[in-house]
Amino acid sequence: MRLSRYFLPVLKETPSEAQIVSHRLMLRAGMIKQASAGIYSWLPLGYKVLRRIEQIVHEEQQRVGHIPMLMPTLQSADLWRESGRYDAYGPEMLRIRDRQDRDMLYGPTNEELITDIFRSHVGSYKDLPLTLYHIQWKFRDEIRPRFGVMRGREFLMKDGYNFDLTKEDALHAYNRHLVSYLRTYERMGLQAIPMRADSGPIGGDDTHEFLVLAETGESEVFYDSEITDLKFGDREIDHDDHAACAAVLEEFTSRYARTDETHDEALFSQIPEERRRSARGIEVGQIFYFGTKYSEPMGATVQGPDGKPVPVHMGSHGIGVSRLLGAIIEASHDERGIIWPEGVTPFHCGIVNLKQGDAEADAACDALYRSLRTVGLDPLYDDTKGGAGAKFATMDLIGLPWRITVGPRGLKNGVVELTSRRTGESEEMSPEQAVERVA
Ligand code: ATP
Ligand code: MG
Ligand code: MG
Ligand code: MG
Repeated sequence: MRLSRYFLPVLKETPSEAQIVSHRLMLRAGMIKQASAGIYSWLPLGYKVLRRIEQIVHEEQQRVGHIPMLMPTLQSADLWRESGRYDAYGPEMLRIRDRQDRDMLYGPTNEELITDIFRSHVGSYKDLPLTLYHIQWKFRDEIRPRFGVMRGREFLMKDGYNFDLTKEDALHAYNRHLVSYLRTYERMGLQAIPMRADSGPIGGDDTHEFLVLAETGESEVFYDSEITDLKFGDREIDHDDHAACAAVLEEFTSRYARTDETHDEALFSQIPEERRRSARGIEVGQIFYFGTKYSEPMGATVQGPDGKPVPVHMGSHGIGVSRLLGAIIEASHDERGIIWPEGVTPFHCGIVNLKQGDAEADAACDALYRSLRTVGLDPLYDDTKGGAGAKFATMDLIGLPWRITVGPRGLKNGVVELTSRRTGESEEMSPEQAVERVA
């Protein structure tokens, strides 16, 4: 993309309404614009990162055999009356009435809708196990929307639902989700720690939240510092292997790690004092096993091996796709701006032309731009007439991992300058070498 033809409305001033760094940087980098309280338009740069995060979520869901689909944002209240949650959900639910006087709602989550789909189409235990998911906008009328996309009212969530014949199978689905989530967050350059949590309005007994440690996080957490040494890495886990998935769960959840709702001082005090940590965290996902909480009242049964109907065991599993942008920025920035992890960066690198209009510099930049694209990379070429200082400031603000600087002086020696956003280190090399290094 050529910057002169792009839409990147960066702000010079720090917007006064933003209280935390990720919100400030998203506004300054021209990624989002508030449409109304807790509701945002995704401007091109923000939209690009959102799509990359979504893509990682899709890939990791499908890697473990989960099936993508799409349910609507608007739901009928009747299904929620069946489960008993229409009244129980409270004022966070946005209730709408259509012209026929039917009660509708903008879905805050989808347990009822998916259970209805399941009961309409699945009749036999032979069709299990089944896990369906979608990535769709949710609405929760949060009492205090704040911190930009971190606590929006309209937000993008991946929510998945497993259907199993037995509790044991459903617990395997739970463990499989934990495995898949660990990998998902690491691909985004994040450490998200599974912590024992409270199930809230979703209900159920088994639940873990995934938290990214950050001072600006809204959750209070308590954990054993050993947990931060754990890495999922690039292990290959067979997602059908119950024991292998259970072993990962055991490894990542056996140390003390809890949110304040389930925190237990007595247990916590048994950890050696130097390893006890209390901190703040951002909830970027949660997994639940809730058994027959929805299948029973809504009649989602299958015919078991003995011919008798049995209610299916279910769980649901969410990832805060839009919140993740904020969480990643909270975890990865400096005083000059965002530092995107390679996995989610909106462009792979920036090209800065120090002398736009100079025939030689323009030709060198054009050639570099073409070679980067030929090897499948997506560069952002600053081909505007601005000064070097302003161009560098914009590149630093939007946080691309690499910047290639092209100017007449270097070109005399056949070199360009490659700068790492994270370390700030620069190195001169031929344009060909620069392409190789970025790829
Ligand atoms: P929170 O405790 O932050 O209110 P939640 O526990 O109510 O979140 P879940 O029902 O577990 O949320 O939804 C799954 C994921 O969706 C959460 O882990 C979070 O990452 C994301 N999420 C929830 N509410 C919001 C929101 N208002 N804005 C952005 N993301 C959200
Ligand atoms: Mg909530
Ligand atoms: Mg929560
Ligand atoms: Mg939650």
